[in-house]
Amino acid sequence: MILPEFEGYPRAHINLNNEASLWRKEHSNHAYAIINPLLDPQICQAMIDNVHKKYKVLWSIGGWMEDREVILDKSYLTQEEKFIHLGVDAFVPKGTKVAIDRKARVVRIDHDLDQDGGWGTRLIFEPLGKMKHHIILAHLSRNIRCKVGQIIGANEIVGEIGEPEVNGGWLAHLHAQMIIREHFNDLIRNKKIMQLDGYCKPEEKELAKRLFPNPMKYLNFTTLAPENKHWRHEYP
Ligand SMILES: [Zn+2]
Repeated sequence: MILPEFEGYPRAHINLNNEASLWRKEHSNHAYAIINPLLDPQICQAMIDNVHKKYKVLWSIGGWMEDREVILDKSYLTQEEKFIHLGVDAFVPKGTKVAIDRKARVVRIDHDLDQDGGWGTRLIFEPLGKMKHHIILAHLSRNIRCKVGQIIGANEIVGEIGEPEVNGGWLAHLHAQMIIREHFNDLIRNKKIMQLDGYCKPEEKELAKRLFPNPMKYLNFTTLAPENKHWRHEYP
């Protein structure tokens, strides 16, 4: 599992953009209407904490192919018109331990120092089983427990969730993104791996679905079975 500390805890499946729309409507009567306060990671964290209270959960997940036009309003992604989110985000606190859910080789570790929506510390794994897609885990702290080339066993801890000061300037969360092996190899060969983004333009969505498959289909965020009573708080 990817987030072993949250094993057994109820979670909500959220649409971050919809939650941001609600939040901005509630806060539209002052200066917040002109700027986008949710770009401030502390304010965004407070919003997520309230979302968790609303759904009576400790954590939440969601976001693959989600249009994030509202929450990213006035960010660097607005200028590039990249609103479509390519991975899944798990909203868990800073310091939460992150594991890899299967035997895998660490193929890359990098640190994106861009604090205006960067990756922070990013790990990329090549699974050794049947699955052909690479796994990207990002917005981690510098406290990494693996090395490039190392084979990691299933459910071994590889790092922890970073705080905004080191994770690219976001609220604390895990960004998990799949990338098909051929595309990853192309990016390495063409020295474009640092240009890989977690967002794409709306017109690129169909291609992106193929290059970056849905992590919820492949990754095991907890082993809790869907019929478990704790899942009554799941909102699809
Ligand atoms: Zn993300």
